[in-house]
Amino acid sequence: MIDYHAHSRLCRHGEGEIYEYVETAIARGLSEIGFAEHIPIPGLDDPTGRMDIEEWDLYVNDIFRAREKYPEITIRFGVEADYLPPFLDHVTKLVGGYPFDFVIGSVHFVDGWDFSNPALRHHLDEFGVDRLYRRYYELIVEAADAGLFDVIGHLDLPKKTGVRPGIDISQYVEEALQAVKRNDLALDVNTSGLRKEPKEIYPAEEILQRAFALQIPVSLGSDAHKPREIAAGFDVTIDMLQSIGYNRVCVFEKRRRTLITLEAWPEKIASKA
Ligand code: ZN
Ligand code: FE
Ligand code: FE
Ligand code: ZN
Repeated sequence: MIDYHAHSRLCRHGEGEIYEYVETAIARGLSEIGFAEHIPIPGLDDPTGRMDIEEWDLYVNDIFRAREKYPEITIRFGVEADYLPPFLDHVTKLVGGYPFDFVIGSVHFVDGWDFSNPALRHHLDEFGVDRLYRRYYELIVEAADAGLFDVIGHLDLPKKTGVRPGIDISQYVEEALQAVKRNDLALDVNTSGLRKEPKEIYPAEEILQRAFALQIPVSLGSDAHKPREIAAGFDVTIDMLQSIGYNRVCVFEKRRRTLITLEAWPEKIASKA
């Protein structure tokens, strides 16, 4: 099995070194681990959200060194790149400048506000829940159409705030899925929601059912920010994916996507993170 969404202490809100995540992945029997550290963005005021650009080479070097040191597991070099319109030129350059295996495109910001940061949750009252959902899905469509990404991250992230929309958002979600489909992207099935406020994965089961009907492929990741979170929640999530009909998940090498069989998670190593 694979875990294609790992962070590390380098992002400044995570813990643990790259090698510790790799060792946990090996101990839990994974065949592949994909690192998707938050992209550094010079000029963005986000002191705890990501590394400085000066630290980027540490990340790259740690991954390449781990590849040498742990030949028993496949280590994929990825990035979680924000879709953040004012910084698109920078993101485009960085994404094009490294030999990534995969690039996750995520929307964490709407109109300058990082709604995914619990410390900034107080902005929700002035911004408005329904407006957050509307703007978010508009940006997801733009992100999918941007031609920059392989995977769209945690598709229904606004639920991280713990609030549900007061309006019917199914049309927004449908337009987002259509954009993912027409650009032949994959969805990041992300178990971090199980450990946080929403108490369910991203995207929600009914969204995944629709994605399956549209034959949109999925990737699978824990969004681990601590080594022990690697593969967290995979037992129930794999069961859910299989019950929807997904029998395969995506893997990436140098941004070329292939599919591998989705196997049930072995009980004995099920994570309790
Ligand atoms: Zn993070
Ligand atoms: Fe994210
Ligand atoms: Fe992440
Ligand atoms: Zn993420």
